[in-house]
Amino acid sequence: VRLLALLGDPVAHSLSPAMQNAAFRAAGLDGVYVSLRVGEEDLEGLLRGIARAGGGGNVTLPHKARAARAVERPLPAVVRTGACNTFWLEDGGIHGDNTDVEGFRRALRTLLGQPPEGARVLLLGAGGAARAVVHALVEDGVEGIWIRNRSPARAEALARELGEGRAWLAEGSPQALPPMDVVVNATRLGLHPGDPFPLAPHDLPPGDPVCLDLVYAPDETPWVRAVRPLGLRAADGREMLVQQGAAAFERWWGREAPVEVMRRALTGVTSQGDKGG
Ligand code: NAP
Repeated sequence: VRLLALLGDPVAHSLSPAMQNAAFRAAGLDGVYVSLRVGEEDLEGLLRGIARAGGGGNVTLPHKARAARAVERPLPAVVRTGACNTFWLEDGGIHGDNTDVEGFRRALRTLLGQPPEGARVLLLGAGGAARAVVHALVEDGVEGIWIRNRSPARAEALARELGEGRAWLAEGSPQALPPMDVVVNATRLGLHPGDPFPLAPHDLPPGDPVCLDLVYAPDETPWVRAVRPLGLRAADGREMLVQQGAAAFERWWGREAPVEVMRRALTGVTSQGDKGG
């Protein structure tokens, strides 16, 4: 049996074990996926030990940056984002990927019906998930990214990292922005009942943007439910969760993931503690 483990703290409410074990079963693979609550001091030892024994897994908060330093062969997504959420042994070396980048890319393509090439994007948030989002968007050739965050300094740092002419701070009213094709919520707002909207529906920028919320909930998030009546296409973070898991499955097993089985495994699961890895 091959061991795949989710390393993080907390991990108790993660949806990844249900999703991955369903996928392993459907594909007839001899693997088992477990979640392990791991302190920072044990992360590197466990990650390396599991990989050296022929296993692999995911890494979630708060260890993604540490995992990026623990793997021996980081893929470009890890190097660019400074975060690793997937690890495995290949050709004798411990490889690391950040499948949040690919997960976001696939989820956005599904919602848009095409790649976001040439699109203008308003990004809410500037944390770890936002970093994965901007790298996927830049790779896909968007026209520009406007970043809005509670702490402007963090938005500024992220914009600077992308380089001139690619990203701007979205200060003031979003309605004064140029027309947008996409709005992404990469803040934590929506995780808890009673959270304010990441952006009030009446504050949305012009352009009838599609709205992709990275936060997910069993009945979609309040923000998704609030923007849809405006006639906008919108989705919560479940498809990204499935797609980052599918990309990880493909790294571990070298074959296509049973995505529909993974989607179904999430349906009806009420927990939402998973942070996507
Ligand atoms: P993070 O690094 O801690 O960043 C959190 C972001 O939320 C920051 O921009 C932060 O702003 C903002 N924020 C937090 N509380 C806020 C509040 N009360 N008001 C306004 N802004 C607030 O977290 P992360 O890893 O980027 O995750 C962000 C969200 O994405 C989480 O909800 C996570 O579940 C979701 N996510 C989903 C997937 C998926 O597969 N669907 C994958 C990854 C992440 P400051 O900079 O001002 O603190």
